Amino acid sequence: MKNVNRRDFLKLSGSTLIGLTIGGVALRANAAEKVDLEDPTAVALKYVHESKVEGKNCANCLYVKGGEGADWRPCQLFGGKLVAAKGWCSAWQPMS
Ligand code: SF4
Repeated sequence: MKNVNRRDFLKLSGSTLIGLTIGGVALRANAAEKVDLEDPTAVALKYVHESKVEGKNCANCLYVKGGEGADWRPCQLFGGKLVAAKGWCSAWQPMS
C-alpha cells in the first residue's frame, strides 16, 4: 500500500480548494443571473419583466427574497435567479 506523503497531500488539498472555489463562483454567478423570458419556468408561469396587473409585482410578492429596494431581486420559484422588481408571474402571492 502506498503512503501519501505530505507533498502529495498538499497538492491534492490545493486542487480540491481550487475546485471548490471555482464551483462556488459558478454557483454565485447562477444565483445572480436574471431570469430569461425564454426560460421554461418563466414561460410556464407567464413571467414578464413589467407587470400589467395593477398592485401586483415581484417587489410585493411572497416569493421574492432579499435585495430590498433593488431593481432585480431573487425569486424562490426561479431558484434564486433575479426577477424584475416591476415584474410579475401567474404564481404571484401577497406577502403575509
Ligand atoms: Fe415575481 Fe412572485 Fe412570480 Fe417570483 S413568484 S416571478 S417574485 S410574481
